[in-house]
Amino acid sequence: MVDLKGQYEKIKSAIDTSIINVIESTAFVNGPEVHGFQKDLEEYLDVKHVIPCANGTDALQISMMGLGLEQGDEVITVDFTFAATVEVIALLKLTPVLIDVESDTFNMDLDALKKAITPKTKAIVPVHLFGQCANMEAILEIAKEHNLFVIEDNAQAIGADYTFSDGTVKKAGAMGNVGTTSFFPSKNLGCYGDGGAIFTNDDELAHTIRGIVNHGMYRRYYHDVVGVNSRLDSVQAAILRIKLPKLDAYCDARRESAHYYNDALANHPSIITPVTSNFSTHVFHQYTLQITNGKRNELHQHLLDNNIPNAIYYPVPLHSQKAYVDDRYNEDDFKVTNNLIDTVLSLPIHTELDKDQLDFITKTILEFLK
Ligand SMILES: *Cc1c(COP(=O)(O)O)cnc(C)c1O
Repeated sequence: MVDLKGQYEKIKSAIDTSIINVIESTAFVNGPEVHGFQKDLEEYLDVKHVIPCANGTDALQISMMGLGLEQGDEVITVDFTFAATVEVIALLKLTPVLIDVESDTFNMDLDALKKAITPKTKAIVPVHLFGQCANMEAILEIAKEHNLFVIEDNAQAIGADYTFSDGTVKKAGAMGNVGTTSFFPSKNLGCYGDGGAIFTNDDELAHTIRGIVNHGMYRRYYHDVVGVNSRLDSVQAAILRIKLPKLDAYCDARRESAHYYNDALANHPSIITPVTSNFSTHVFHQYTLQITNGKRNELHQHLLDNNIPNAIYYPVPLHSQKAYVDDRYNEDDFKVTNNLIDTVLSLPIHTELDKDQLDFITKTILEFLK
């Protein structure tokens, strides 16, 4: 699905040098590379504070801890996402409230959001799924009206731009009270291990979160709050400092492949190609088709048989997962997600795809669906 080796080979000497420099400096933890990357990312995202941490799941958990969410508080998020989003809500003994998504963009459905708000609701977690932003302008308005926090799970859309109706443009993850991301190797800005970050423009929240990631310490060996140990490695930060300046070009390369797929597949009666909303750019963390003739599983297998990687994100809705089943849920409220799990199919998308590969993939699909 991704070609991390091909990408590495193009930047090998810079990466290797930066890794060796960290090793020779022996500043393995919280070294200058971590601080440097933090500053670079603050500038790129145009946010006041970036707090690096160990992974994208921690970033979500720590954000919720930093906002002071407490047991019983309801947190609304989507049914159609990676489990990390709901996992941390449950771990903190908050109450997850899963809602349906839009059938075209796969992002949070606004009517479902409005319907899910109760007096116990404290936060909304939109997930910018597969590389484009949820309708943040509307979500921020709803949040303001009901006095709710907005935590953007931006693990899949770093680099995407969101345009508000007044023309203001902001980066994905830089619009809510807090945003989070993951630097897992296959993400659009991936390191060579685990990594994550939290973003906010709120000085006080940033201060709170900087303590939480470091055992709740604001002064060495004085623990004011219960914290965690969640750090971005200096080696990973050094790698990310090389890759961040290339992120926009990486996103362009993904978009180019997506356009190639669109052109080849858009007119087929059994294929729905990805829909890009008019307020967000799409950075195609995934390129996800809907196969509407009931042959998704057969196509999935056929492509595998032809050595074409492809994947079903996600095969089971979160509300049906054993860990997250809840009597309050009603199947009728998840019509879109329940349909998507049977139709979606994600194709290889990355920075190193060439025309021959794209050609082979699209021809194999079209021949099969003929
Ligand atoms: C990858 C991902 C995460 C978790 O990131 P990790 O770094 O793997 O912990 C969270 N949310 C979404 C939507 C993701 O895709």
